[in-house]
Amino acid sequence: MRLYLVLLGPPGAGKGTQTHRLCAGLGLFRVATGDLLRRIAQEAHPLAARVRSVLEAGRLVDDATVWEVVSHYLDRAAETYEGVVLDGYPRSLAQADQLEDYLTRRGQMERLWCVLLDLPETVAVRRLAGRRICPRCERIYNVDRVPPDGRCEVCATPLIQRADDTEAIIQKRFQVYWEQTAPLVQYYETRGRLVRLDADQPEDQIFECLAGYVRSWLTHG
Ligand SMILES: [Zn+2]
Repeated sequence: MRLYLVLLGPPGAGKGTQTHRLCAGLGLFRVATGDLLRRIAQEAHPLAARVRSVLEAGRLVDDATVWEVVSHYLDRAAETYEGVVLDGYPRSLAQADQLEDYLTRRGQMERLWCVLLDLPETVAVRRLAGRRICPRCERIYNVDRVPPDGRCEVCATPLIQRADDTEAIIQKRFQVYWEQTAPLVQYYETRGRLVRLDADQPEDQIFECLAGYVRSWLTHG
């Protein structure tokens, strides 16, 4: 594997969209904890039964099990993919250490990069509060791109505002984000593995910039 990309960013920075574009456009594999837990539960893997019972009970999967699942898919991605995007992992310093141990053992720590999609809170709140989503095909529209008739361009369903996109809830999400992410930003900055990218620009420009970094890391990594 040539690249392990950790993508960090506040709500509204476009992390989800950029991750999907990187995977579709540059052939990276997305490592998203929730998806992988649901996926392993369907597979014939020794972990499947354990994960299934926790998920069915609606309980939180413990850190050790999450890591077993994440590392299983990292190993597997290494057989076919040039790189992975870690989406929502690590979420704590303990998890960051786990990932670092894994990469160090494989001599791959210098292939890890962390990109922070940097966005001032005021801009993010404005962006999120103005966001509309299609309840049918789940396409997301930003304030400046909502069609004049308020309907989805793809399926003509009237757009709605997501319940967690209201200002009070957005501020709460921000608080959680900073508590969780600020230490990780510092963690990767200290190690010289952090790149800050200004996310206060149009989605396409962010993608061009991000894709530029990714291409160079895939080439030189
Ligand atoms: Zn739609």
